[in-house]
Formats: sequence, C-alpha cells, structure tokens
Amino acid sequence: MKSAIKIAIIGGGASGFMAGITAKEINPNARVTIFEKTDKILAKVKISGGGRCNVTNATFSVSQLIKNYPRGGKKLKKPFNLFNTNHTIDWFEKRGVRLKTEADNRMFPESNTSETIINLLTTTAENLKIRLSYKSKVTAINPTDKGIELDINEQKLLFDKVIIASGGTPKKEGLNWLENIGYQIVNPVPSLFTFNLANKDICKLMGLSIPKAIATIKGSKLKQEGAMLITHWGLSGPSILKLSSWGAEDLAKRNYNFKVGVNWLAKNEEELRVQFSTITASRKLMHKHNPFDVPKRLWKFILDKLEISDSQIWGELTKKNKNRLINTLINDAFEVRGKTTFKEEFVSCGGINLSDVNMNTMESKLHKGVYFAGEILNIDGVTGGFNFQAAWTTGYLAGKNSAI
Ligand SMILES: Cc1cc2nc3c(=O)[nH]c(=O)nc-3n(C[C@H](O)[C@H](O)[C@H](O)COP(=O)(O)OP(=O)(O)OC[C@H]3O[C@@H](n4cnc5c(N)ncnc54)[C@H](O)[C@@H]3O)c2cc1C
Repeated sequence: MKSAIKIAIIGGGASGFMAGITAKEINPNARVTIFEKTDKILAKVKISGGGRCNVTNATFSVSQLIKNYPRGGKKLKKPFNLFNTNHTIDWFEKRGVRLKTEADNRMFPESNTSETIINLLTTTAENLKIRLSYKSKVTAINPTDKGIELDINEQKLLFDKVIIASGGTPKKEGLNWLENIGYQIVNPVPSLFTFNLANKDICKLMGLSIPKAIATIKGSKLKQEGAMLITHWGLSGPSILKLSSWGAEDLAKRNYNFKVGVNWLAKNEEELRVQFSTITASRKLMHKHNPFDVPKRLWKFILDKLEISDSQIWGELTKKNKNRLINTLINDAFEVRGKTTFKEEFVSCGGINLSDVNMNTMESKLHKGVYFAGEILNIDGVTGGFNFQAAWTTGYLAGKNSAI
C-alpha cells in the first residue's frame, strides 16, 4: 500500500496539472493540492497558440528535440529520454484527446481549441480528487526536519513533498523567495518577440511573407533561416522569432537597439552572381522581370530603394548598380528599436539554474522533497510547441518522483 503523503503543487498551470495528475495516478493515496495564486487555472493554456493550444511539436528524435531549446537544451536530454513528444501524444490520446500535426510540425488538439486541453486536465484532476486552492499565493518555503513548510495566505502548512511549478517571472525579484533559501537564479529576460524598426519605410509592405530568408544580428554570430513576415511595426515570422529566442540574453543587454541583417534570398553571393550572369544579358525590364524567389512587392520596393527606374533593362544595368542590388538582396540591414511581444506565444528565459536540479527526477539538489517543473526552470524553447513539451516532461517527472 502506497503511503498517504501530502504533496503541494505551487502553480495551477500546464506543468502543475501534469505533475499533480501524474503523482495521484502513481500514488492514489497521496493527498495532492494545487495552490494557485490567482482565481484562474491554466490561463496560459487557454490563450496559447492563438486559442488553439500548440501542445507539442512533431519532432520525435530526442537529439533533434533538444536543438529547439536555446536554454536548457543539453540538460533536457535526460528528461526527454524519459518523457518526450511520443509520450505526450500517447498521454493525451489515452485520455481521449487526439492531436493533429500541421505542415510546420506544430501539434494541436483535433478540436482546434485549447478548451479541449483544459477540460481534459481539469476533469482528470477532479476525478482523481486533486484539491484546488485558488487565491493561494505561496510566499515562502522552509524545508524542515518534519517536512516542507509553506507560507500561504499568512498560514504555515506542512507537506511531505513540494513541486514548484509557478511559471516564468518577468523580474528576478519574483524569485526572491527561492533565492532566499539558496537557489541560484538566472536573470529572467523575455524571449520570443518581434522586432520594431526605426525606419518604417518597409512597413508599407505589411502582411508580406518572404518564404525563405536569413536573419542575422550584426556584430554577433546569431543567425536564423526561415519565413519572414513584414508587419506594420517591423519584422516577424519564424526566422525573427527564432532569432529573438536564441539572442534573448544578448538582445536584452543591447536594450533592444541593434542592427538586423536580412538575406532576402537565403543565398550566398557566389550563387547569386552565377544567377546574375545568366540574366544580365537580357533585354527585359527589371521592374517587370523578377527572377528571384521574392514577392513582387518586395522586388519593386528594393528597386525603388536603389533608385533603379521603371525603364531600366537588365542588360544595361551598371556594374555599380549590379553590386548594390546583390548587396541589398543578400545583405540588407535595418536598425531595430525595441521589441513587440509575440501574442501567439511568449516566454521568459532565466529562472532556477539547472545545476541546482537533478534532471532525472526534477528533485532539487539542495532540498530533499522539493521538485521543480515548467517555465520556472532556466529552460525555454523556440516557438512551435516546445515550451509546452518542456512543461509536460518536467511536470510528469516531478509528479512521478514526488509520489514514490
Ligand atoms: C500568449 C501565450 C501563448 C503561448 N502559446 C504557447 C503554445 O502554443 N505552445 C507552447 O509550447 N507554449 C506556449 N506558450 C508558453 C507556455 O504557455 C508556457 O511555457 C507554459 O504555460 C508554462 O507552464 P507552467 O506551468 O510552467 O507555467 P504557467 O502556465 O505560467 O503556470 C504557473 C502558474 O503558477 C501560478 N503562480 C505563480 N506564482 C505562484 C505562487 N507564488 N503561488 C501560487 N501560484 C503561483 C501562476 O498564477 C500560474 O497560474 C505561450 C505563452 C503565452 C504567454
């Protein structure tokens, strides 16, 4: 018979629910309570993925999966060997929620609504008799010989195990209650944002998507390839979001003032010069004959920017203008002044330093019986379902290991 241990979960988000359900399924005698500081649970799940909840990403090999985490990737190898995308899909399917894969590998519930995920998590928790305590903010944690004491709404409550699943925090001070008992905190900074441009000329092309571009941060080695979107404030799309994620700490240090390089064709100069040699003999009008894989409106914008007139024919392009055009096509640059939160998915990097956590069990190395799960850890992924995958994985492991 399993022991009737008392488990407290701090935070009613994705990782907290996964931890609670797993703990109770493994040890039905455990008394599990989720303490949530607000009057709402699973608030981020609800708004995630534009209300559809991008549950995970169809990346099935662990070695590929970890490449999508600018922070925590290598350390996630062990946890992902124990619970990865395959386990997530099975976990939801066994409980009646089938996931579907979209062309870009993002996985959503077949119903296309995050309510399906919320219903599953809340109904399962209810059936397992997991207690939910709303408006219960944990303000201090005090590991003692008798158990782990939590300060909740001016009460001191004692538990055998505590899972800290309180999510990301925009400021380091938000984690003072953990720093006070010895945890190393990596300074939190935002990740997954879009770039605001100083000069908005190109923003007249808002809504335009470039299928394959390369974005770089000038003065760094940061570089990402993928689709790019021009918005009414600047640049967005997968290449920019990935760049914001990999560059989160660097760009915060620059106070979001930097130069972004854009290779509109995702080609190198040599390849482009070979392509040019075949077209510069032509008598066709440059404005009408766009031989590159860029949308017509962008092509016109580039020619106008270089003051190449409507009557210019390819065969009479001067060497100087040819070099300017090549340079703009593969080495364009824009000053960035500030960032805009990406509404579909937003995370903060930073949090509990992973060296304080046993990544096989998610138990703290500092205090026996204390576990961590989700975004509170210094783990964050690029956009596409990777952040929830980390929350399911760490939540599952924390729940399982706390219950035995
Ligand atoms: C708009 C938006 C869309 C997103 N879309 C996606 C997506 O589609 N796919 C994806 O992979 N990721 C997405 N993310 C990221 C993803 O939502 C998070 O990574 C994930 O929710 C983290 O789960 P968590 O349980 O660790 O934290 P959270 O979901 O933040 O939950 C933590 C909970 O703890 C509570 N809490 C905090 N402190 C205390 C305390 N002291 N005492 C008690 N309770 C406390 C909070 O109120 C909160 O309810 C999105 C994020 C945002 C903001």
